[in-house]
Amino acid sequence: MFVVGLTGGIASGKTTVSDLFASLGATVVDTDIGARAVVAPGQTGLDAIVRHFGKQILKPDGTLDRAALRQRVFDEPEQREWLESLLHPLIIDWARQRITEAAGPYVVLVIPLLVESGALRELLSRVLVVDVPEHVQVSRLQQRDGSSESAARAILRTQARRDQRLAIADDVIENTSEQAALRARVETLHQHYLSLAANVGD
Ligand code: ATP
Repeated sequence: MFVVGLTGGIASGKTTVSDLFASLGATVVDTDIGARAVVAPGQTGLDAIVRHFGKQILKPDGTLDRAALRQRVFDEPEQREWLESLLHPLIIDWARQRITEAAGPYVVLVIPLLVESGALRELLSRVLVVDVPEHVQVSRLQQRDGSSESAARAILRTQARRDQRLAIADDVIENTSEQAALRARVETLHQHYLSLAANVGD
């Protein structure tokens, strides 16, 4: 299966772009959904987290207390590493399964932290980066989430830089124009991916 990894900084427009690919018939697989699925009640990921951190990492209803987990790994790099080494293989398996079941001609695999974590690179035929200047990310975060400018800039500082993302891109979508131009760009890439996907295995 031909798999395009779609990444980009926070509020760059990954969801907007992946929705456009889906409307054209590509199968979209979102690793944020996978990251939640592998720690759902009854999954081995959640069992391992409870064994490691204790039952206080659960909410009263038995689901993972994400805020408590974030707090636990925030200041402790070795705990963060432990968690990532648990979750990455589980998310890779989850994504592989979705790719195997994909009905579309190719898969768009959304991986927000592709540059930061490196996980899932092995599944990709190609990398597509949604790119906007930082001031656009900041203003979209302010508009969408009501964030303050300083809070928005603080989030950006925790992520990879724009040039680091662009360095791994095979294709780039400049998401600064209006909806019609964005749609036209996605349609062009879709045609390109259809022809590349048709040649896979030749
Ligand atoms: P996150 O990293 O938080 O998951 P994202 O990268 O998926 O975000 P979107 O949610 O698609 O980004 O877009 C962020 C915001 O910017 C949304 O409110 C969206 O409507 C808006 N937006 C996306 N593309 C454009 C555009 N070309 N012009 C104007 N607004 C846009």
